[in-house]
Amino acid sequence: MTSATPDGPARLPARGTPVDDLLAHIDAAREGDLDWKGGKAFSLVYNSGDEEHERLLHAVADRYLHENALNPFRYPSLLQMELDLVAIAGDLFHTGDDCGAVTAGGSISIFCAVQVVREHARKEMGIAEPEVVAPITAHPAFAKACDLLDIGLRTVPVEADGRVDPARMAEAITDRTAVLVASAANYPFGVIDPVPEVAALAAERGLLCHVDACLGGFFLPFWERLGHEVTPWDFRVEGVTSLSADIHKYGYAFKGASMVMYRSRDLLRNQHFWYDAWPGGMYASSTPAGTRPAPPIAGAWAALHHLGEEGFLRLTKQVEEGNDAFRAAIAACDGAVVTPEPDIAVFQLTTPGRSHDAVGDRMDARGWNLDRQQGGLHVMLSPYHVQVAERFGEDLAASVAEVPVTDDAPTESTVSTYGGIAE
Ligand SMILES: *Cc1c(COP(=O)(O)O)cnc(C)c1O
Repeated sequence: MTSATPDGPARLPARGTPVDDLLAHIDAAREGDLDWKGGKAFSLVYNSGDEEHERLLHAVADRYLHENALNPFRYPSLLQMELDLVAIAGDLFHTGDDCGAVTAGGSISIFCAVQVVREHARKEMGIAEPEVVAPITAHPAFAKACDLLDIGLRTVPVEADGRVDPARMAEAITDRTAVLVASAANYPFGVIDPVPEVAALAAERGLLCHVDACLGGFFLPFWERLGHEVTPWDFRVEGVTSLSADIHKYGYAFKGASMVMYRSRDLLRNQHFWYDAWPGGMYASSTPAGTRPAPPIAGAWAALHHLGEEGFLRLTKQVEEGNDAFRAAIAACDGAVVTPEPDIAVFQLTTPGRSHDAVGDRMDARGWNLDRQQGGLHVMLSPYHVQVAERFGEDLAASVAEVPVTDDAPTESTVSTYGGIAE
């Protein structure tokens, strides 16, 4: 096999390799990959734990392997699925049935929304060089989009509870500001920003307001129905003009499916690209992609239809049970604290007085895979995690006990200096 070897970089092999040999090679190579099925993985995979659901996703991907959503009119079945996804998301988030698009992921949805902001600012607001104002906890996709689209980004520190203070957002507004961003929920701490206040501020100043619900979009509607208090965050909040929501997270589809939604089709139109100066014919696209793989679209459609409201409630209930069990296990563990208090089953685990990096290393040695943040370890729970909560608690207690208390490790939440901008 000609993968990179000590002899040098990979080269296209002179002769082909038989299928079975290749599969054997891949299977052996995959042994070093993250094992997401055992419940010791977080954030990269959202494990529904539902084998029927898994079977469906595989079957659908197989059927659409070679279809190309570049030209949806050649694939009426795929076009209908995409229209359905937009209508379902419109209904779930309370905007129109035709006010959004399916994209390949959260970062692309955010890119689309920021591009729409730029176009809208130039055409309707008279701002040639628009800027985005976002909490420091907003996903790096905003910084990336601003960088790629060559527009400015002003970040605002968050408070000790992990949420942005709308008064600080107000202070950051300049005559170039075109949009205010809020997260529902944010990734680092799993807390929902005060969307109603941020959106009201945006409306009052004549600005756009984007809610990043990549994480919460397909979770919060069901979490709320289980009785949790959820800050209003969708288009029912006046002033919210666009929203991103990933189906490949708590929508339980495989990777490559997200929604970007707008309050109106007029806003959405800024996202569309038309080009008629090409000898290859009229070219149009609704997202930055040209050729678009069909499996993520079909997989997302199938996932939502297989689960339905009932399935989402069932899986969200399992996340809730796992969350209760994890929180109890952490509370019982001396030296580990969840901070700040999250709104969902995503949170930061801190180890006051001890290096959380070192605790993370001890957890790694026990097979866990917790991401390191500036102020702690990151935990994100899927339905499957309920089955490993007890083990997590035991391993966490053992890991914490192995790490010495040191003077230079932070003793409290480091939220307010997160990003280093709090004044
Ligand atoms: C995951 C995530 C994103 C980015 O989504 P990708 O699918 O990884 O590109 C953006 N915002 C939040 C809050 C997220 O959790």
